[in-house]
Amino acid sequence: MPRPVLATIHTESLRHNLQRMRRAVPDARVWAVVKANAYGHGIERVYDALRGADGFALLDLPEAERLRALGWRGPVLLLEGVFEPRDLELCSRLDLWHTVHCSEQVDWLAAHKTERPHRVFLKMNSGMNRLGFAPGSYRAAWTRLNALPQVEEISLMTHFSDADGERGIAHQVQAFADATRDLPGERSLANSAATLRHGADPAVRGDWVRPGIAVYGSAPDFPQHDIAHWDLQPTMTLSTRIIGVQQLKAGDSVGYGSSFTAAQPVRIGVVACGYADGYPRHCTTGTPVLVDGVRTQLLGRVSMDMIAVDLTPVPQAQLGTEVTMWGRAANGAVLAIDEVARSAGTLGYELMCALARRVPVVVAR
Ligand SMILES: *Cc1c(COP(=O)(O)O)cnc(C)c1O
Repeated sequence: MPRPVLATIHTESLRHNLQRMRRAVPDARVWAVVKANAYGHGIERVYDALRGADGFALLDLPEAERLRALGWRGPVLLLEGVFEPRDLELCSRLDLWHTVHCSEQVDWLAAHKTERPHRVFLKMNSGMNRLGFAPGSYRAAWTRLNALPQVEEISLMTHFSDADGERGIAHQVQAFADATRDLPGERSLANSAATLRHGADPAVRGDWVRPGIAVYGSAPDFPQHDIAHWDLQPTMTLSTRIIGVQQLKAGDSVGYGSSFTAAQPVRIGVVACGYADGYPRHCTTGTPVLVDGVRTQLLGRVSMDMIAVDLTPVPQAQLGTEVTMWGRAANGAVLAIDEVARSAGTLGYELMCALARRVPVVVAR
């Protein structure tokens, strides 16, 4: 029998979350962002559930090829554009739309030989200072692109640094609006957080939104809001089983470094899941875990292949009992990936993307 650790991808929840994002912006089109192999879920595994999107957005050219190989004929957007001139050949061949964020990418396009002109998304750096033309040079870039026979249509795009946080997006929305006021073309600004929090504002919604994390059942502004607040459902469950049970006396400790010591007698379960499965090693005593669908906690350090959990609230637990590291238990109980991520000082994004290769994955409804 293989180790019992298993990841389950929930296709009905992917559908639900995509619909939820649509509901936030009824008159905009929705890119399903599937970069990083669909946030660790697997492009091939999510494709059927997400093909109701208006397009797929990603970064890696091989991932774009995989989408075309699956039969997707609709829009595909490369969010970072091309990395070298010959990538443009693939864009021409597979009809990939691509971001243009720097003058070198305009040069490459100007030198590119193609029968089919490209649709490009011209990116503005409205304050995040990662990719894009500064507002003051945006119009010149647009004018240059607009004169190229290689370009069919130019859309306008920016990305927010603080859509999930305190600072907010008003300063970036303003910078984008000012610099694009009389430019034609479709607009795309919003990630998950901006779509959920500000989707009612037409200046934020634009023509295309680009949700990623919310589609995968993580609240972009956790802990301010959780998935229940946003009506999102977990799309990945990491589950396993109890493979050992120990009875600790007061003063006994568990695991490497003896970082947990029992104050009173406690029954613990030893669980087949560790950091080599993608469960974060930074999780410590107190991190929530579901045993038999009942909420309990991690005790001590995370090992490579095992953790220990408190069985006090689940006296029925024994060898073979189901353990849910995040996601949905058999009894329907939910442990949001965001809660586990917070215990490790990180985000749901990192956990789902870091699911280890050794974990088998199944696709379920
Ligand atoms: C990753 C990404 C998104 C999606 O962001 P989420 O926070 O996952 O919704 C949108 N736009 C761009 C440019 C991105 O790189």
